[in-house]
Amino acid sequence: MGSEPRLSEVRDVIIIGSGPAGLTAAVYTARANLRPLVIEGSPSSTSDQPGGQLMLTTEVENFPGFIDGIMGPELMGNMRAQAQRFGADLLTTKATRVDLASSPRRVWASDPSTGEEVEHRARAVIVSTGARSLMLGLEAEGRLLGHGLSTCATCDGFFFRGHDIAVIGGGDSALEEANFLTKFGETVTVIHRRSELRASKIMQDRAFNNPKISFLWNTVVEDILGSAKVEALALRNTETGESSRLGVTGVFVAIGHVPNTNLFAGQLDMDEAGYLRTNADSSTTNLDGVFACGDVQDHVYRQAITAAGSGCMAAIDAERWLEAAGVEETSLVEDLAS
Ligand code: NAP
Repeated sequence: MGSEPRLSEVRDVIIIGSGPAGLTAAVYTARANLRPLVIEGSPSSTSDQPGGQLMLTTEVENFPGFIDGIMGPELMGNMRAQAQRFGADLLTTKATRVDLASSPRRVWASDPSTGEEVEHRARAVIVSTGARSLMLGLEAEGRLLGHGLSTCATCDGFFFRGHDIAVIGGGDSALEEANFLTKFGETVTVIHRRSELRASKIMQDRAFNNPKISFLWNTVVEDILGSAKVEALALRNTETGESSRLGVTGVFVAIGHVPNTNLFAGQLDMDEAGYLRTNADSSTTNLDGVFACGDVQDHVYRQAITAAGSGCMAAIDAERWLEAAGVEETSLVEDLAS
C-alpha cells in the first residue's frame, strides 16, 4: 500500500503584508468566510510584532474612532486581533518569492520555527506590503523614531506645537512637510545636502515666501542628539567642513520613500518609482486574481486610513472575483508534490 497522498490546502485568499491595508483586507475577507492566510512579515528591530509603519509610530490621533488617539502598535494589535476573531490565520514570517501568474497562485515563505521555505497556494492574492521611508542610516534613528523624530508631518505635526523643527531633504516632500509644519512649529529649518533644491518651482516659491521657514544649505546631519527624545542635531557643512549643533526638538526626515515591491518584479506592473500599478477605481492589477492595496500602490496619500480604505476595496474586489470564478468555499486538493 502506498502512503496516503498529503493534502495541502488551496486557500481562497492569501494576503501579503499586515499594515492597515492588509489587516483591513483580512477583516473583510475573514468576515466573508474566505479564511484568509495573512503572511504578516517579521517584527522590525524596534517592535515585537509586524504591522507596518504604524509599529514605528507613537500616538495616532487622526484615525477615526479614537477620541483621545491611540498608540500605533496598539491600533495594529487591535486590527490583528479583530482579523483573528473572524478566522484569519496569521503567519509571522516574510514571503520570500511568488508565482502570481500560475493557478492557483503560489507564495513561498519561510517557516517561522524551522526557517524552511514552505509553499502556500491560493486562488486570489492581495498584496499589501507597504512602503518604507528612506532614513539617513544613523543609529539614533532607531532609538528616537516616535520620540521627536518622525517621517510624516501629516501624522505627527500636531504634536510639535511651539517646537523648533528641522526637516531634512530638498525634494517636494521636504518642502510640503516644512510648509505644513509651520502651522505648528515656532521655527522650521530645512536642511539640504546641496545648494539647490530638487523640489518643483511652485513648492520652492511657497517655502521661500514662508517667513517661518529658513534653510541650511550644503549641510548633512551627522547625528541626532538626545537620549529619550530629540534635543539637537549635529551638522556638518560639506563645503567648509565646519561642524555645528542645531537645537531642535522635532526632526522630520523627508528624503523619499521606497515601496516594498522587489518580490513582485517581472510579475506585477509597476511605475518608474516601483509602486504597483492598479487599474482605475479598483485594486485589480495586471494579473487576474491579484489585488494590491495600501502604500505599495499609493505614493500620494500614504495615510493609515487611506490604506485601510483601500484594503477594504481589495477584499471586496477579491471576494467578487472569487464569486465570479464560481468558488465560494475553501477547499482541499491533493498536493501534487507529494
Ligand atoms: P525626492 O524627490 O527623491 O527628493 C528626495 C530629497 O532628499 C532630495 O532633495 C535628496 O537630495 C534628499 N536626499 C536623499 N537621500 C538623502 C540622504 N541620504 N541624506 C540627505 N538628503 C537626502 O523625494 P520626495 O521629495 O519624497 O518626492 C518623491 C516624488 O513625489 C517626487 O516625484 C515628487 O515630485 C513627488 N511629490 C510631489 C508632491 C507634490 O506635488 N505636492 C509632494 C511630495 C512628493 P538631492 O536633491 O541632493 O538628491
